[in-house]
Amino acid sequence: MIEPINTLCAQLAKLPGVGAKSAQRLAYYILDMSEASARELAQSIINAKEKVRYCPICGNYTDREPCAICADEKRSGEVICVEDPKEVFAMEKLREYRGRYHVLHGAISPTDGIGPGDIRIKELIERVDAGGVKEVILATNPDVKGEATASYIARILKPKGVRVTRIAHGVPIGGSLEYVDEMTLLKAVEGRREL
Ligand code: ZN
Repeated sequence: MIEPINTLCAQLAKLPGVGAKSAQRLAYYILDMSEASARELAQSIINAKEKVRYCPICGNYTDREPCAICADEKRSGEVICVEDPKEVFAMEKLREYRGRYHVLHGAISPTDGIGPGDIRIKELIERVDAGGVKEVILATNPDVKGEATASYIARILKPKGVRVTRIAHGVPIGGSLEYVDEMTLLKAVEGRREL
């Protein structure tokens, strides 16, 4: 039992998808790194935690305020797509979408005790109330939580006269957009339906 190695393994095992075996493999890999590389790795975690925060407008991760997408005046403020940060990244890779985004950072899930007030729905409503928004595309995940979140938002926004759409999912139920290839994602947005 070498205590610093055990501690490192325990920390790595907290990461999603990393079991005890993988944690051990990574820990030994890190021990074999040069001291400079190990410091760089540790410092990059600290830097990301210190410098990256939520954009005050869209809620996506950013190191400046507002984020580059919200600051881009060439993008249309008429369409807001509601997604997860990882999916915003996937959409941006497509270079087809020229609207803006809104990141909720979670989904409504009564069984986990997560209600509408726990995710960034209020901020979305405020953006719509501020005017200029014609359509809100709900691209939340096609699982129970994502559907509950989409219908909750639709119920609130539709009476405000804004078009509310849900993207078409050729995605297996429970799947996340993050893993969908880019063409499927594009089709999902093109095939969106009115809620
Ligand atoms: Zn932003």
